[in-house]
Amino acid sequence: MSSGPIVVAIDGPAGSGKSSVSKAAAVALGFAFLDTGAAYRSLTWLGLERGLDLTDAAAVVGLLRSFHYSTEVHGAATVVRVEVDGRAVDVTDAIREPRVTAAVSDVARIPEVRVALNEVFRRLIAATDRPGIVVEGRDITTVVAPDARVRILLTAAEDVRIARRSAELSSGAASTGPQLRERDRRDAQVVDFLTAAPGVTTIDSTELDFGQTVQAVVDLVRSTS
Ligand code: C5P
Repeated sequence: MSSGPIVVAIDGPAGSGKSSVSKAAAVALGFAFLDTGAAYRSLTWLGLERGLDLTDAAAVVGLLRSFHYSTEVHGAATVVRVEVDGRAVDVTDAIREPRVTAAVSDVARIPEVRVALNEVFRRLIAATDRPGIVVEGRDITTVVAPDARVRILLTAAEDVRIARRSAELSSGAASTGPQLRERDRRDAQVVDFLTAAPGVTTIDSTELDFGQTVQAVVDLVRSTS
């Protein structure tokens, strides 16, 4: 019988509200929170800083040796840091820049990168000092934590996801739509996060507001604990 933390695994496409919903659910439950996309984004940021061609898998795999990543949670805010030349640099905002978003799928498709980051994630999950941890990404319910106590696929209709994402980015839906669709298309070639694996509960937030979606996650966790 494992005595580790209660793991709540949440997968879903871009713009599904995964990150903000997972964070708010974690706060409501008193659980820790792990945004795995932030690690893929941080590695991508480091590669861009070093001027690497991110479609060159060998170069990106080489970068893993000097990739030191840490996060610090303050309430609902998470500070993300990456070590550069022995110095921890705060990349919380930089990893959301369009140049990172545009390149992250190239990095995430490299199998060695996924294996290395999955080890980091499993270590972070095991090391949490909270009774539970909400972990969100694309392959959490299937690869990173298939034995999680609660496994959720968070979805929403594509037009709703695009509208939410463009409101967030304050750029018009005209450019957000194609970008979001293209990123999902490329990411879906690596892991299938659009269909729920056996045992995974789908929460469709198309008709739900933010608070209702958070509540649906919290209720599901409470009903299974
Ligand atoms: O969730 P977010 O949009 O921040 O994720 C950024 C990118 O990281 C995704 O587009 C995907 O390429 C990659 N990712 C992944 N597996 C995860 C989390 C993120 O491949 N578990």
